[in-house]
Amino acid sequence: DRLRESKVYLRALFDYIPLEDKATPCQEAGLPFKRGDILQVVTQDDPTWWQAKRVGDSNLRAGLVPSKHFQERLAYRMKVGTLPNPKSPKTPSDCDCEGYFNGQYIGLRRSFRLSRKDRQGSSSDGSDPGDSEFLTYEEVTRYQQRPNERPRLVVLISLGARINELKQRVIAENPHRYAVAVPTTRPKKPHEKEGVEYHFVTKQQFDTDVVNNFIEHGEYKENQYGTSIEAIRSVQAKNKMCIVDVQPEALRRLRTAEFKPYVVFVKPRVPESRRRRTTATSPGGAEQGRITDEDLQEMRQSAIQMDQQYGHLVDRVLIKEDSASACTELRSILERLERECFWVPLSWVR
Ligand code: 5GP
Repeated sequence: DRLRESKVYLRALFDYIPLEDKATPCQEAGLPFKRGDILQVVTQDDPTWWQAKRVGDSNLRAGLVPSKHFQERLAYRMKVGTLPNPKSPKTPSDCDCEGYFNGQYIGLRRSFRLSRKDRQGSSSDGSDPGDSEFLTYEEVTRYQQRPNERPRLVVLISLGARINELKQRVIAENPHRYAVAVPTTRPKKPHEKEGVEYHFVTKQQFDTDVVNNFIEHGEYKENQYGTSIEAIRSVQAKNKMCIVDVQPEALRRLRTAEFKPYVVFVKPRVPESRRRRTTATSPGGAEQGRITDEDLQEMRQSAIQMDQQYGHLVDRVLIKEDSASACTELRSILERLERECFWVPLSWVR
C-alpha cells in the first residue's frame, strides 16, 4: 500500500523522547522530536498514537508520536496528578483510546475533551498556542511573502537587554525598507529622521493614541515612548517591514494573521571572562554599567521564564555577542524573510 502524501504539517510545541516515554506502546517505534520541529503527519487514524515524519529528516520511516488529544491528557496528568474526569474508563475494553503513563493505565473515550476549565484559558480548538495551558502541536503551512503582500512584522524580544541601538542601526541603513512603530514625545535630535529612530509626536497626539492603540508604553526622563498598533499598520501600509521591540506578553496581541510576526529572541551572551571579572569586583559594589552577579542571575531567571512561557512562539534565537555581529545577523534575517519560505500557523493564511 502506498501511503498518500499527507498535507498535514504540525509544529511540535514540546520535546518528545520516546525512550523516556512510559506511555508509548513501543519505544523503538517512537519518533523523537524537539519543540519547534515540523512534523508531517502520515496518519491520524488512531486517536492515541499518530504516525509522523520529521520534515528535513533523511530517514523516510514514519514513527509514532502522541496524538494532540493524548498529549494534552498526559500533560494534565503530570501537572495535576489526577485525571480530569473521574468517570474515565478503567479497563481497556471501555475505551477506544488508551495508553500507559508511569505504569498506570490511562483509558480515554474518543469523545473525551478537556473542559475549558481544565485547559485553563486555552482556546477551544487550540488554534492559539499562546493561550493554551498544554502545549501540544500547532498546524502549520509554508508561507512566502509575495511582492504585493504586506511585509511581515518583525518582533524582537530582548528582556531588557539594550537593543534599541541594534534596531535603529539596521533601520537607518535601509530606511526605505524597514521602519519602527514607536511614537515618542521627546524632541528630535539633529542626526535623527522622522520615522527612522522614532515617530516624533506632540504630547497631545501621544495621549490621544494611548487609550486603545498601544501594546506597551513607558516614560523616560519625562518623555513618553511606546509601540502602537496604528504605527505598525501605517508602516506596513507603506510596504515597509516594521520592526518592534517588546515584552513577550505583547505577543498575545501581535500574533495575528494581519501581522504574521516573525519572532526573534535576542539573548545577550556574557563571556566567561567577564563573568569571572565581575565576580571578582562585585563584592564591594559593581562599577556602573558593569553586569553584577545579581544582574546575571536575573537575566538567567527571566530567560528561563521566557523560554517556558513563550519559547514555542520564538522563530529564531539571536545570540548577541557584540553589536556588529548582531547587526549582521539581524540584517540577514530580514533579507531572508523577504525571499524565503517559512512555516507559519495555518490559520494565518486560510
Ligand atoms: P532614547 O531617547 O535615548 O532613544 O531612548 C531612551 C530610553 O527611552 C530608552 O532607554 C528606553 O528606556 C526608552 N524607550 C525607547 N524606546 C522605547 C519603547 O519603544 N518603549 C518604551 N516603553 N520605552 C522606550
